[in-house]
Amino acid sequence: MKPFAYHRADAADQAVKQAAHANARYLGGGTNLVDLMREGIEQPDVLVDITALPHEISRTSEGGLRIDGATRNTAVAANLEIRREFPLLSRAILAGASAQIRNMATVAGNLMQRTRCAYFYDQAAACNKRVPGSGCDAAGGFNRMHAILGASADCVATHPSDMCVALAALDATVHLCSEDGDRAVPLVEFHRLPGEHPERDTVLREGELITAVSIPAAPGHTRSSYRKVRDRASYAFALVSVAAVVGLSTDGTINHVRVAWGGVAHKPWRATRLEAELLGKPLTTDAIAQAIELELQAAVPLSDNAFKLPLLQRTTAAVLAELAGGAL
Ligand code: SF4
Repeated sequence: MKPFAYHRADAADQAVKQAAHANARYLGGGTNLVDLMREGIEQPDVLVDITALPHEISRTSEGGLRIDGATRNTAVAANLEIRREFPLLSRAILAGASAQIRNMATVAGNLMQRTRCAYFYDQAAACNKRVPGSGCDAAGGFNRMHAILGASADCVATHPSDMCVALAALDATVHLCSEDGDRAVPLVEFHRLPGEHPERDTVLREGELITAVSIPAAPGHTRSSYRKVRDRASYAFALVSVAAVVGLSTDGTINHVRVAWGGVAHKPWRATRLEAELLGKPLTTDAIAQAIELELQAAVPLSDNAFKLPLLQRTTAAVLAELAGGAL
């Protein structure tokens, strides 16, 4: 591993100063970053350890929740308010990794984890994300786990997080700070589609630190769920996953709907066309099927992953039927 300087920060402004003007990375649980450093894919000159920064889950003045960036994934999944008000977030985190990894991994690190595309980790392979301009061996190679939505000719990788898919369905916001000040970015805009620059996973600017993620108060009378489909029962990344939040009026029509998909794109995929199609309609089997079909019109499967389309259709339909409370 390439030698690096190590700093430990006690506050966000101190961390930002320590990382400024250097090829620096912030170190949370290190469950992805340290692997990448061992493989020589990440080669920072400076590591700023941010595990001593605040790690609380607190109520916002608007009734939502604010989760500090250094909060461990286990603490989020086990938090009573999250389990009561945003159960899909707890379920997504518990579906995401082993207990040992959840105990180490932080919320900010979860947002920053990089694709698990095997070619990205293989220094002998061509990979535009690792070495811009070198090509993409996955496009014509083994791409069973790769994207069917939003990919580009330069990269067909998927984002690996479960937690972020739930946060996308919860309209979460990412809070950032840097020497230039603070800013907030909607989670659905935080991760990028690959385009011509797959080396950039997020809209994070040089030296910016994730200080927190906030979730607005859950709209009244909504139900939510997260379902992950994978090759084996545990310790596997999603083939597809579905996070959904649905509210029904007393007459049975949908007055709130958020659906996000994981395992299918370079970022958590908010199914906005599906949502627009369902809003104001009764949650029927036909309406669900039609809305899913509309969203999937943009899908472009690769040589090995056309199976994701029917899998995603069936999983989404099952989750929405579950949220209809047996009305279908
Ligand atoms: Fe690299 Fe993306 Fe291609 Fe994988 S899909 S080899 S990460 S460029």
